[in-house]
Amino acid sequence: MSVQKRRSWAEPFKIKMVEPLKMTTRKERELALIEAGYNTFLLKSEDVYIDLLTDSGTNAMSENQWAGLMLGDEAYAGSKNYYHLEEAVQKYYGYKYLIPTHQGRGAEHLISKILIKNGDFIPGNMYFTTTRLHQELAGGTFVDVIIDEAHDTTSEHHFKGNIDLQKLEDLIKRVGAEKVSYVSVAATVNMAGGQPISMKNLKQVRELTHRYGIKIIFDMTRAIENSYFIKVREEGYQNGTIAEILLEMCSYTDGATMSAKKDLLVNIGGFLALNDFEIFEEARNLVVVYEGLHTYGGLAGRDMEAMARGLEEAVQFDHIRARIGQVEYVGNKLLDNNIPIVKPIGGHAIFIDAKRFFPHIPQIEFPAQALASEIYLDSGIRTMERGIVSAGRNKDTGDHYYPKLELVRITFPRRVYTQAHCDITVETILEVFDHREKIKGLKMIYEPKYLRFFQARFERL
Ligand SMILES: *Cc1c(COP(=O)(O)O)cnc(C)c1O
Repeated sequence: MSVQKRRSWAEPFKIKMVEPLKMTTRKERELALIEAGYNTFLLKSEDVYIDLLTDSGTNAMSENQWAGLMLGDEAYAGSKNYYHLEEAVQKYYGYKYLIPTHQGRGAEHLISKILIKNGDFIPGNMYFTTTRLHQELAGGTFVDVIIDEAHDTTSEHHFKGNIDLQKLEDLIKRVGAEKVSYVSVAATVNMAGGQPISMKNLKQVRELTHRYGIKIIFDMTRAIENSYFIKVREEGYQNGTIAEILLEMCSYTDGATMSAKKDLLVNIGGFLALNDFEIFEEARNLVVVYEGLHTYGGLAGRDMEAMARGLEEAVQFDHIRARIGQVEYVGNKLLDNNIPIVKPIGGHAIFIDAKRFFPHIPQIEFPAQALASEIYLDSGIRTMERGIVSAGRNKDTGDHYYPKLELVRITFPRRVYTQAHCDITVETILEVFDHREKIKGLKMIYEPKYLRFFQARFERL
């Protein structure tokens, strides 16, 4: 074995400023949980020790990004930071036109309004909460065309984010190409466990959609993480740089929505990126109504600067290897201890299979919600539910969706926590696992109409 092989990754940065963490007692956490209705989204951040709720907007910025904040050009129109961001987006993602938005869902709102007609269908590789909601609010129906392996937590398929070409073509034939607004393709599919799509599959989807004259809109929120998986898993890409792979992925799509709060190492921001001038023109017009002028889209100049600088850093191999390496470190420790998690280990998070963790809790008693509460209670670590609560209700029948996947997501903010925090996280989960039989399910006592997982409240059974 070469020396190189024996070396593991280490964080490619050192710490310049620290934020103290607060530790609480079990009694305090018990009270905090009751007050939060057993919903980790309703906990106060102050009461959380290690916050693994989400990787969205929770990133640590670099000294270069912080320095960029001081160079914010806070002009209402034509900020120089907009042009810097436009240049970075053209260089790394390859799209011609840029519309900044306050975050990802702002871009989803615009593109859904522009491309979806009432009664349309939008096939995609598994739904994402805000994406699907905007598609539905625009009058469309989302259709899941991801490969079956994505719904199987034990399948070790290397690209569980792939689209099932047969399912996609069957839908197009059934409803007619003119009824398909576009194919909604996500990179490292969040709801499937942070699972990547392969370049080969994306290329095939491109060929198929070309034949029917259908567009592809790329949810490239975590496309840089997806590029890393292509580099390490897909034949023919071992020698490509992350930037080259990223550019190739985007080249098979017509436009993209972006939540910069993930891959781009910032705390807020997003954008819509397009190649088609007519769609751009309409989006540039609509963004003024919903977000702000087309050269700031609800963001400060400094935020756009931080995004442009974050993009440069995010495509560096050392960064992405350590970022995904940290997730793998925790995932492998859990696997070594027989904790049921989604395999292969995803890019931004570990997903615990709550159905297998709590075989005695039926899905209607919210096993994943119960597990996230229990993890918090043990040590103050915050995670989130990705199961029946997140899936919501069928808009026609009003029933729960009962998704196959009933998961707890342990999500890692980028560049925030150390390996020792990772060890504490593993210990907590093992602790909960040891007394899993004593843990009971929950009852929902308050349910909001939209995206209920954010604000629903529960009681212990
Ligand atoms: C976060 C996210 C979004 C929505 O972006 P926001 O910035 O939270 O509005 C869309 N798609 C995916 C895959 C995401 O992870």
